[in-house]
Amino acid sequence: MISVEEALSLINNENSFLKKEENLPVSECLGRILAKPIVAPINLPSFRQSVMDGYALCLSDSNQYQVIGEIKAGDSPTHTLKPGKCVRIFTGAAVPEMANAVVMQEKVSIKKDYIQINETPPLNHNIREIGSQNKAGDISLEAGQILNPAGLGFIQSLGIEKLNVYSSLKVSVIVTGNELIQAGQKLEEGKIYESNSLLLQAALKHFEIKNITIIKVEDRLDTTVNAIDQAIKESNIVLVSGGISVGDYDFVGKAMEKLCVDQVFYKVRQRPGKPLFFGKKKETYLFALPGNPASTLSCFYVYVVPLIKKLQGDDGKGLSRFQLPITHRFSTKEPRALFLKAFIEKQRVTILDYQNSSMLISFAKSNALVYIPETKKEYLENELVETLILPNVTIP
Ligand code: AMP
Ligand code: MG
Repeated sequence: MISVEEALSLINNENSFLKKEENLPVSECLGRILAKPIVAPINLPSFRQSVMDGYALCLSDSNQYQVIGEIKAGDSPTHTLKPGKCVRIFTGAAVPEMANAVVMQEKVSIKKDYIQINETPPLNHNIREIGSQNKAGDISLEAGQILNPAGLGFIQSLGIEKLNVYSSLKVSVIVTGNELIQAGQKLEEGKIYESNSLLLQAALKHFEIKNITIIKVEDRLDTTVNAIDQAIKESNIVLVSGGISVGDYDFVGKAMEKLCVDQVFYKVRQRPGKPLFFGKKKETYLFALPGNPASTLSCFYVYVVPLIKKLQGDDGKGLSRFQLPITHRFSTKEPRALFLKAFIEKQRVTILDYQNSSMLISFAKSNALVYIPETKKEYLENELVETLILPNVTIP
């Protein structure tokens, strides 16, 4: 059995050999990670743009300017301005070559085809210069950048149509257990409604993984071996739920052996999720997650997320961790490290009730996990505790 820190560093040591690239239309790249830097093919803006609705002046000593034409957004300016002349101009329109300031329309008074201004604007006032956001040839975004809506918009504004991003991961989720039935079926004694497949599928979607196959198997060695074997062939990551403990009907460990999966670790000194297994075969990583739903999800957040992030080309750091003051005294006699469902409010964290690994109820209400290392058994009120922020939560 190894410590939480050892387990995390073993995952972190894995070389991210799955970083395959694909070339996709920009519109399909939300949440993807750039595999190559974006080198700007054009200046942004590519012409001098008016920042305001107003008048583009060719500056002179006088406060009066003759209006010799109009340029609206989208027009190509053909006017040749001399000092003392101006054109009516609108936001986003191309400023003619000789114009060297734009004065906003609220600051002028109009007299026939002349405008009067009170003070001479500074040179290049209200003109967005060529390349002021980004020069042609600049590296605008580095490889490794996650593409958010603004990123996609920015890339599109450079006129780029297709991008090199890291391939999205394929994940297979195998749920084991004779007791498991689908919601909608009649609940007979001894059976329970299966929840881990949905829980894992939803958790994976928070990390932009949509290519997910769900497989259900009975507690039998042959079916478990076949399911894992097939999943290894088809996926980058295999998540097996349940069947990794030491019971007579737990066949996942035996199936891993039979399939010659290289074990990286098995069993971590933690609660929940002691019998966690991590291994690999060829280019596929495998986790066997203990079946109790809160253990499954806790192990997913703590151990699977760092691997996913690494394989996606990100930093592999996992969920964000902060030291936060705890709202109450806490002590434990548990020798193992703990991951506890918790709620952050007003920058302080409270450990919730119902921590049993079979219970999802506190997880459903939490926005964080508190990590109690195996070396520390007591916290005073307001003492700092390490807190992992769950993905896609709001922190009040
Ligand atoms: P196991 O890890 O297979 O020993 O399962 C531990 C506990 O988790 C048992 O009470 C199982 O019934 C329960 N469990 C296992 N898999 C699931 C699942 N997919 N959904 C809900 N509960 C499960
Ligand atoms: Mg089981």
